[in-house]
Amino acid sequence: MDIPIIDLGSDEHFMREALRQARKAAAQDEVPIGAVIVHEGRIIARAWNQVETLKDATAHAEMLALTQAESAMDDWRLNECDLYVTKEPCPMCAGAIVHCRVRRVIFGCEDVKGGAAGGFWNLLQAPNLNHRCEITSGVLAADSVGILKSFFAEARARRAAGETHVKGARGDGHEPSNEGLNA
Ligand SMILES: [Zn+2]
Repeated sequence: MDIPIIDLGSDEHFMREALRQARKAAAQDEVPIGAVIVHEGRIIARAWNQVETLKDATAHAEMLALTQAESAMDDWRLNECDLYVTKEPCPMCAGAIVHCRVRRVIFGCEDVKGGAAGGFWNLLQAPNLNHRCEITSGVLAADSVGILKSFFAEARARRAAGETHVKGARGDGHEPSNEGLNA
């Protein structure tokens, strides 16, 4: 019987790149979530959340990374690709990930309120859909939570200091709470 080999060292390596993308989001006042897609050990897509910049509620890091990866592969089928994302995917992204037939999804922190990779729903492994992804959770989760928490703490401080419009920091359901996110 074959035992699947999970190379945690390499998962952490690629998650670090996803975390770098998340920091780019924070630098643009976007909720800091980053994603990369890997094919045969090579990163073929990198993206960060750009909902505010693009004024597009679908511009989550995973969605942007999927489009890049499809372009890089010249195929919408990503069944030999693995997606790394700093936070558990939402239902929209999980649906897109299944449509693209991504082989494996590796994420940082869980989202027990809105996550669709086992946190609240598990769309990535729904028995009625025609593709199921392998899931690895909790890779560098504390780093993901740390970036999210400091982003929202800073946004609160800026609002308290009188900034009336702090982009990307309110009402989007991404703020980690102790109930909602497990590091
Ligand atoms: Zn999403």
